[in-house]
Amino acid sequence: MHRRILAPSVLAASLLLAIPASATDFTPGAPGIGDPYYPSSGNGGYDVSHYDLRLKYQPATDLLEGTATILATTTQNLSRFNLDFGLAVSEVRVNGTKAKYVKTGTQELEITPAAPLAKGKSVSVVVKYAGKPSELSIDGYTAWHRTPDGGVAAQEPDSAVWWFPSNDHPLDKATYDVSVLVPDGTQAISNGTLQSQSSKLGWTRYNWRSNKPQASYLATLAIGKFDITTDTTANGLPVINAYSKDLGDNDGAARASIERTKEVAEWLSDVFGPYPFNSVGGYVPNVTTGFALETQTRPYYSPRQFANGANVSVVVHELAHQWYGDSVSVNGWKDIWNNEGFARYAQWLWSEKEGEGTAQELADYVYAQHPADDPFWKVKPGDPGPDNQFDLAVYDRGGLALQALRNAVGDETFFTILKGWPAAHQYGNAKVGDFVQYAEKVSGKPLAGLFDTWLYQPVKPAAPAAKKAKLTAGSAVAQPKSWKKIAATNEIHGHR
Ligand SMILES: [Zn+2]
Repeated sequence: MHRRILAPSVLAASLLLAIPASATDFTPGAPGIGDPYYPSSGNGGYDVSHYDLRLKYQPATDLLEGTATILATTTQNLSRFNLDFGLAVSEVRVNGTKAKYVKTGTQELEITPAAPLAKGKSVSVVVKYAGKPSELSIDGYTAWHRTPDGGVAAQEPDSAVWWFPSNDHPLDKATYDVSVLVPDGTQAISNGTLQSQSSKLGWTRYNWRSNKPQASYLATLAIGKFDITTDTTANGLPVINAYSKDLGDNDGAARASIERTKEVAEWLSDVFGPYPFNSVGGYVPNVTTGFALETQTRPYYSPRQFANGANVSVVVHELAHQWYGDSVSVNGWKDIWNNEGFARYAQWLWSEKEGEGTAQELADYVYAQHPADDPFWKVKPGDPGPDNQFDLAVYDRGGLALQALRNAVGDETFFTILKGWPAAHQYGNAKVGDFVQYAEKVSGKPLAGLFDTWLYQPVKPAAPAAKKAKLTAGSAVAQPKSWKKIAATNEIHGHR
């Protein structure tokens, strides 16, 4: 929008013409998007289509300076609106005009534009900011991992507030351009493809692009000294991996796992359908955490994942999320089974393919491991609650639910469902109930009872009669060969 300087009377008249409704029709956007698990996550009143992040980072001091340009469309008449952000802000402009802003709560940036915003209009928001992400702690929790040579933003369900302002909830996905200026000799890693890289006066700029809708928690930034490897798949998809130069004894095992990315992505494409994004890869920063995360196109792996040798199973898990979690995202965080049940089941399918135990054998083993009075059965994978969002039951009982589905509909229909679902909801959001309906539609069978038993009842489901004798004594079920490697990935998500 371009406003000319007008005489006051003319300005008043044009405002009256532009805004015929009374000012009371314009109300503040909600400070949360409406997710009962995380009431302050995301915001109401607008929908973001693109983030352009122009950043400068100094590894020696952890100072991050940024200009975020956010393109959005209003979904209501807005008198003001919120972004989610934790660092100090120095200026906000809305449609090019300076706006008032105030930080409220733990992570809310409340913005009042000079003129109210009408529903259904394009809006640009520019936020200038600076701060040390390592100094930001929210409820004792941080998503910023400071390393000896830089820092990394990767966590679930929140990480964006440590490095850019956003509508921080998977319901509002957008495309990203992330441009990072770092001292020469330091590398900056983010999602998607590396569009260009250039050096000038001692600083190097990395321009990354993620050109398909991406949830804010799946955006990642890693700055440090990395060895970046590049390759392409048979289909021409760029493969970009990055390894910290300080992985020490874990370096070989990390590379021996993540260099299988191309092969794993190819196999997953056979199971889940075409790979949904413009690039694939993974990165291992020199962090002290233990988890891995499915950051879009480029999963994050902690070095500790490889402390006992290579583990391709964790690569299978994080790449499976590119379909189940990243392309098709949760509608609300209660739908976490749509992500974790399937990523776990992909590990079982990989085991089956490698001849290290079938999914059925793994399911039998999980079932036998947990007696009826084990609290494992109290967690409902279909709605685990925020405290149990990443409980083992979401993964393992989540996998049992899929094995029960496979047994109920048969292999052909089961794999048709696994492949059809990511296409049916590509780049969107879906609920657990949507999957149940989809499975019923494809199979032509009533399945609500089956999913209720495996996802929602806080008791150990009865084993099918034929299996009862075998499963009553846990000792009768042999441990599948792949079990230990899969179990070693059980800390892949979690706040640590
Ligand atoms: Zn996962």
